[in-house]
Amino acid sequence: MNVLKFGGTSVGTVESLKNVRSIVEALPSDTVVVVSALGGLTDKLIATARLAADGGDWRSEADAIADRHFVIIEELVRQERKEATLSVVGALLDELRRTYEGVSLIGDLPSKTLDVIVSLGERMSAPIVAGIIRNGHLHNSLEFIKTEKWFDKNIADAALTRQLIIDEFSDIDDGPHITGGFISQDRDSGEITNLGRGGSDYTAALIAAALDADMLDIWTDVDGFMTADPRIIKDARVLPAMSFIESMELCTFGAKVIYPPTIYPVFHKNIPIRILNTFNPEAPGTLISDTSCADEYPVKGVTAIRNSCLVRMSGHLTENVARINTRAYNALARNGVSVFLLAQPGENHEFSFAIAMADRQAASRALNEEFAPELIDGALDGISFEDNLSIIAVVGEGIKRLKGIDGRILNTLQRLGINPLACSEGHSDTTSSFVVDEKDTVESIKAIHGLFF
Ligand code: ADP
Ligand code: ASP
Ligand code: MG
Repeated sequence: MNVLKFGGTSVGTVESLKNVRSIVEALPSDTVVVVSALGGLTDKLIATARLAADGGDWRSEADAIADRHFVIIEELVRQERKEATLSVVGALLDELRRTYEGVSLIGDLPSKTLDVIVSLGERMSAPIVAGIIRNGHLHNSLEFIKTEKWFDKNIADAALTRQLIIDEFSDIDDGPHITGGFISQDRDSGEITNLGRGGSDYTAALIAAALDADMLDIWTDVDGFMTADPRIIKDARVLPAMSFIESMELCTFGAKVIYPPTIYPVFHKNIPIRILNTFNPEAPGTLISDTSCADEYPVKGVTAIRNSCLVRMSGHLTENVARINTRAYNALARNGVSVFLLAQPGENHEFSFAIAMADRQAASRALNEEFAPELIDGALDGISFEDNLSIIAVVGEGIKRLKGIDGRILNTLQRLGINPLACSEGHSDTTSSFVVDEKDTVESIKAIHGLFF
């Protein structure tokens, strides 16, 4: 059996939903379909919540949200399901209005309330899509996607979720089966949570892995995984295939086409992923599997993570480089901070790591605690941060065979007057990465993409 995921753009309009319907209705009845909220709706739900908190006119926005759903129900939901769908979605829209009303009254938007508000996107789209597809069976993902707290984040409780998915879909020959992506429930408190923006991909991967699916199909609005973000590089190419590792690296380093945590559960089970276009279903798409086709395409793509910062530690540390890096890395990890890039030590033994700007405070706390002895005895001069940077990554399992690749990239950037502030320590087998000023992001991607493609 296959698990399919349709993103927001695929379920955004009457026209695109007709494509979804014909794609799903042509598949066997044991297919599981994960859907996002209507395209752009999650952003709209958040913006309207902020508007309500600021005392703005949220009512007209809420009316527009309601109309969008009613038009789709009116035009597409099967006659015999229309009344029930209207009643379910109507009740959810009432919940949305009541919640906005509360936010507006207290003039504040607690994060738990925002979680409830954003959940309504998928809680509405799933029954609508189930009502559009012949014999569509609706499943409530809040019942089987469970999260636990990890610092200030909610992360999936993989073992519990897996078992609940197996129970929920134990008998699936009578589908197709439709469920909402992204949304989840805290396993302890029962509060509504979510898997993070773009998280519907992850919901689909958790289901595919638990059910030992043959394939995970991610249906979106481009012909496949491309060599760069097509909004930046107009002539970016669609790649026919790549490996799990390559896709994991590309997504971790900012390729928005798949939400990064998605790949691990299916990789672990060796379930291939296909990236397919809802608006061009005949296109072959990209196959992500355990093979890389590195001979044909040594480099798979160029990506960037914006909003990054460099943490620098300088001084006269006497411990060896690996030990310092390990201590810093572990201290950051214990505090929920991921390191995107470990830089080559600079002159005077300067250590630096790139992290998300959002993690700056947690990182500062973690490192100041870990290196307190060295800060006190003067072996470390201090820990400083440099903001507004981007990490540019070049990914491909073939890059290890390309001679002097880091030098070529550096030369290309320097010819444009862009001087990377740091480079990754060696490079991993698949990724070479550089830190540049955020304002140089687009120019750097264009230049490096031009070098390889
Ligand atoms: P969905 O709503 O289907 O989840 P997303 O917007 O999350 O879609 O992801 C698809 C978008 O990702 C594409 O429209 C494209 O603009 C963007 N994108 C960024 N980098 C890449 C890439 N390397 N290959 C393909 N698409 C990319
Ligand atoms: N609707 C959610 C978002 O916009 C989840 C998703 O689309 O994957 O982030
Ligand atoms: Mg997405």
